[in-house]
Amino acid sequence: MASPPRALSVSFFVLPLLVLLINPATSIRTSIIKLPRSDGSRSTAADTYCESWRLAVETNNAGTWGVLPSSCVDSVARYLNGDQYGSDYDVIVDYALAFAKTVKISGDGKDVWIFDIDETLLTNIGYYKNHGYGVSRSEPFDSKSFNEWVVQGTAPAFAASLRMYNALKKLGFTIVLLTGRDEDQRNVTEKNLRDVGYSGWERLILRGPDDQGKSATNYKSEQRSKLIDQGFKIHGNTGDQWSDLLGFAVADRSFKVPNPMYYIP
Ligand SMILES: [Mg+2]
Repeated sequence: MASPPRALSVSFFVLPLLVLLINPATSIRTSIIKLPRSDGSRSTAADTYCESWRLAVETNNAGTWGVLPSSCVDSVARYLNGDQYGSDYDVIVDYALAFAKTVKISGDGKDVWIFDIDETLLTNIGYYKNHGYGVSRSEPFDSKSFNEWVVQGTAPAFAASLRMYNALKKLGFTIVLLTGRDEDQRNVTEKNLRDVGYSGWERLILRGPDDQGKSATNYKSEQRSKLIDQGFKIHGNTGDQWSDLLGFAVADRSFKVPNPMYYIP
């Protein structure tokens, strides 16, 4: 059998290679493009991993997690101090309010929206920026120093949460605050909330002596259950932890706001 002409056999190999190199789809897929961030530095493979990790913890795909991966502390710090954190909050609030507007308010004061407090209404970033941006192996959670921060009563409001809180009041919802803070922090918590613009809540529920030792999921579920027994309808619930939202006696709609710093079961 005769062999093909030499020119033909060369083009047989070279042409597909040229197509591969010229095809823009192939070029984009195989290029390593590192875009500069606002601070002028470039993203790395660690950043890509950490953004995936953050998505996994926010969606609860990670389930219970203990500490921030040490390779992600810088990435989490950039997220919390950059524009993305506030933007994520804004988008969640927009969806929550869109749902809230569909709720038929009965006018009997029984239509409830529940808010968690820490990392939901109030931000403790002022504390965590001095403590490794969350719970990591090098910075385990220290309840003593955190409580010292809480009693200062200087935690700022999230702008998006305050916007949502006031809009829900205007729509006629009864606001219930359900927090893992202890009963002995009631006064400082109320003052902190009022100082930054929150007002008009129906109840502030804190952990009492009977709630000590309970998981957050159980404690919060029990408190929601009591509200339902009292005739309240829990339409919405907003928290930064899945334990604010899951368990039993759950709200019709739950809205998880971001928190890549720690996980409370
Ligand atoms: Mg919280």
